[in-house]
Amino acid sequence: MRLAERALGISPSPTLSIDAKAKKMMAEGLDVINFGVGEPDFDTPDNIKQAAIEAINKGMTKYTPVPGTDKLREAIVKKLKKDNGLDYQPSQIVVSAGAKHSLYNVFQVLCQSGDEVILPAPYWVSYLEQVKLAGASPVIVPTRASEGFKLTPGELESAITGKTRVVVINSPSNPTGAVYSRSELKALGEILESKGIAIISDEIYEELIYDGLEHVSIASLSPGLKELTVVINGLSKSHAMTGWRIGYAAAPVPVAKAMADLQSHSTSNPNSIAQVASVEALEGTREPLRNMVNEFNRRRDFMLERVNAVPGLSCAKPGGAFYLFPDMSSYIGKLYNGKRIEGASDLAALLLEEARVALVPGVAFGDDHCFRLSYATSMEKITEGMNRIERLLSEIS
Ligand code: PMP
Ligand code: GLU
Repeated sequence: MRLAERALGISPSPTLSIDAKAKKMMAEGLDVINFGVGEPDFDTPDNIKQAAIEAINKGMTKYTPVPGTDKLREAIVKKLKKDNGLDYQPSQIVVSAGAKHSLYNVFQVLCQSGDEVILPAPYWVSYLEQVKLAGASPVIVPTRASEGFKLTPGELESAITGKTRVVVINSPSNPTGAVYSRSELKALGEILESKGIAIISDEIYEELIYDGLEHVSIASLSPGLKELTVVINGLSKSHAMTGWRIGYAAAPVPVAKAMADLQSHSTSNPNSIAQVASVEALEGTREPLRNMVNEFNRRRDFMLERVNAVPGLSCAKPGGAFYLFPDMSSYIGKLYNGKRIEGASDLAALLLEEARVALVPGVAFGDDHCFRLSYATSMEKITEGMNRIERLLSEIS
């Protein structure tokens, strides 16, 4: 059967593929340490699970409005006001099957052939494919470790052309953990507002932020920027709810309407039970979340120290998310058992095969001088995984 060109152009999500490979090896009895996937290792808090059980018992098992129940959209409106200083109406909120789905919808309704979408690199893996699926062209703008992997106003300005339609901002960032400050966002926002370029602001790691840093939504900086921005967020990371598949977008009314209309012909409403659970997640106790963030903070500090103690690796302190993105370029051109290492992909393959440590090579994020380690795993596993990495790297010369 012939596949459409659209399908032929898609590469599978590398983060999910590496996770699947690591899990398969584990199921085969191999002792793999998985620093691959970005998924909280904590269980969904009990109050959220209980809300879902009650929803089932009460028969809340039918279709809901396509963009989500009134209750959930109102809870999201309240959250955006309280945490982000943003004023939306429920009609501006579209709930989808995860933030990945929200992003898919927004690229579909904003972008078309001939449009350019600026992706600061390192970028999260799915942006690239979703931009292409929308028929638009990704414009990858490398950022530098020395700038904290953040796009500078100069770099943004040089990347903008007459075709630039959207810029993606992801703060805190996957994979670098970079957190843009208010003034950094202001500087970028002024340029984008003056040129009327739309912004997709992926804020899924908002809650996972350390060292007293402040999460700022670029949409909150001026009424003009709010009109140009689609805020993307969700419950996967903040509430350890990856499997429940709830994400959302907050957008100007015509964009929200277009996203809901598109969704009405694809998935319809997101899961009704997960929506009830999400209301509890947003309105219930924040205690489990605080504990989770404290634990991530502890792991980040520990893993960062271990990484920077390995000769030839260097990693700046990330302000958010649950990833480290160390530079490994000093290993490029060196040999392991006679095999030459050309980039982080080779190193990642070696680490998986020889040391049984899964991680994601930077090429997946547009930078193969680095690799991504997820510290969403226990201290014991971090210790063991880092011992293995250190050992294997010491055998490279
Ligand atoms: N954005 C970023 C930056 C991510 O890392 C992820 C990965 N989970 C998502 C969006 C999508 O999250 P989900 O679909 O699980 O809500
Ligand atoms: N976003 C997570 C990651 O980057 C989960 C996997 C995915 O959705 O791609 O690992």
